[in-house]
Amino acid sequence: MTKPRAIYWFRTDLRLHDSPALKAALDLKPECLYPIWTWDPHYVYRAKVGVNRWQFLLDCQTDLSSSITKINPKSKLHVIREAPQTLFPKLFKAWRISHLIFEKDTDAYARDRDESVVELARNAGVQVIIKTGRTLYDPDELVEHTGRKPTMSISQVQAAGKKIGEIPRPIPAPKSLPDPGDMSIDFEQEHPPTDPDLNAHDRTESDKSYKSLAGPNSDFAPPTLEELGFPPATSPHRGGETVALEMLSSITSDKTYTATFEKPKTAPTAFEPAATTVLSPHLHFGSLSVREFFWRVQDVVDKYKGKASEPPTSLTGQLLFRDMYFGAQAHLGHAFAQTIGNSHCRFIPWHLPSVVSPTSMRAGHDYQIDDPQAEEWFQRWKFGRTGFPWIDALMRQLRQEGWIHHLGRHAVACFLTRGGCYIDWERGAEVFEEWLVDHETACNVGNWQWLSCTAFYSQFYRCYSPIAFPKKTDKEGQFVKRYCPELENFPDKYIYEPWRAPIADQKAWGCLIKGDTCGEDGEYKVYPKPMFDFPTRREVCKQAMKKAYSVGLHGNDQQVLDGTWRKL
Ligand code: FAD
Repeated sequence: MTKPRAIYWFRTDLRLHDSPALKAALDLKPECLYPIWTWDPHYVYRAKVGVNRWQFLLDCQTDLSSSITKINPKSKLHVIREAPQTLFPKLFKAWRISHLIFEKDTDAYARDRDESVVELARNAGVQVIIKTGRTLYDPDELVEHTGRKPTMSISQVQAAGKKIGEIPRPIPAPKSLPDPGDMSIDFEQEHPPTDPDLNAHDRTESDKSYKSLAGPNSDFAPPTLEELGFPPATSPHRGGETVALEMLSSITSDKTYTATFEKPKTAPTAFEPAATTVLSPHLHFGSLSVREFFWRVQDVVDKYKGKASEPPTSLTGQLLFRDMYFGAQAHLGHAFAQTIGNSHCRFIPWHLPSVVSPTSMRAGHDYQIDDPQAEEWFQRWKFGRTGFPWIDALMRQLRQEGWIHHLGRHAVACFLTRGGCYIDWERGAEVFEEWLVDHETACNVGNWQWLSCTAFYSQFYRCYSPIAFPKKTDKEGQFVKRYCPELENFPDKYIYEPWRAPIADQKAWGCLIKGDTCGEDGEYKVYPKPMFDFPTRREVCKQAMKKAYSVGLHGNDQQVLDGTWRKL
């Protein structure tokens, strides 16, 4: 009998430890195993990926590749620069592949892509093995156990989890890997991939970088930022399984922190170190297994002598939120990431609805409320120039570093939507999509819906004050001074409301509060005045939310779909 020849397709699992899919590949005892990453044009050209997330991905690929080489000097991660839909048929043939193995991905885009790859494999007589490993529970199984409903609460996840059974213990990393087979396929001679979905500009860009499917040195190495045309990354957060496992060990070595962690008590103003684990980017890229995280924490909790915290506020409870959003996305599919067509998302007639949502464009939506200021507010929010130091510091941290604390995300998301600007959550989610190193569609859109009170949470009358909230954990405004250094000399009394300081004091502290932008005025730095009166805007938003709630439309209601909601 001929031995299997397998391709292992790395995607959401850039690790060797605890990979059920990799184990399944090795259980086949293949004659050869090709570890590959396909350079998906969706990721490269369509999804908005900022330089810091790119760096994190390249770190993960480089680390994984060297870990593979450590256990088999003849092997490494082969980064192949072509879309999977066009690449696989060629690989199946050239490498005489019998099996394709990968980790299950229930992201709406990934599902479409994977369906077409499975179809191609079937046509080529290649057997496909898909294993869950990205979440604690298989999102489809979660949905199955909630009566085929999207998971919209932690209690639903907990109840479904009980029915599914105990979360499996992690699988150790393999000690060896089979050799890859013969790589002789003339990648240089291949035509650039033609992706009908790419527009002309993107296609030209795509063609340029696909000159060699094996990369400029024909060695299948991960690209560099320079090669991709990016400036150097600005984030201190670096990727790779090695870093992730070290971080997890360091966290769990502090038994009290691990066992008594309570999310609401962690400070969003803490930096160096942050108050939470900052493991989210590793979970996103799979450089850390979520089950490894779960069990390492649970083992500490089980042995802890004092009173341990419990889900949902505990560390393991945090992972349930992640599973909850994956479950919601698994059921709602593409509709989950937007309002239009989403049965579980309340329709709110925001200022500046998302202009890039293809569905809303197709439906011809033009529900932009006439508020010329909204676009300006959006830009000032995005680039940290609102004049509210807490909001600006957070948005600058996001842009520079690609990560902000969960409650910081709460603050800026509430401020942009129902608690200040009344701007569509989809606009905010797009900014997060570009700048977060941990961007995960399910978690991002789910949390934006939560914060904008369009789904998951409905207490719209509870808003975060950009002044009172940060004072709870940082009276002196150390966090603000770190990210808005122009305010470094302002005393506690004015750090969250610098516009209230007398002009003479502003001069003495070296920064004038005026206008709508940051900069310099002679010998002084300039920080903007607040872009609106917060209490007034909070009230305006509350009244508008109240009205929208009383109308009670959702994204899939006919009046929303056909744009006639205004006539109600
Ligand atoms: P910890 O507190 O250490 O938690 C451990 C892990 O649990 C996290 O790494 C994360 O995987 C998971 N987790 C914790 N809280 C949540 C949550 N509310 N939702 C989902 N998973 C959670 N998280 C993302 O992973 N990707 C995103 O794109 C994302 N976008 C967000 C957008 C908004 C508007 C908000 C309010 C939250 C968003 N979150 C997102 C959730 C959360 O803020 C981050 O997961 C968390 O801050 C990551 O930091 P940490 O690893 O230190 O978390």
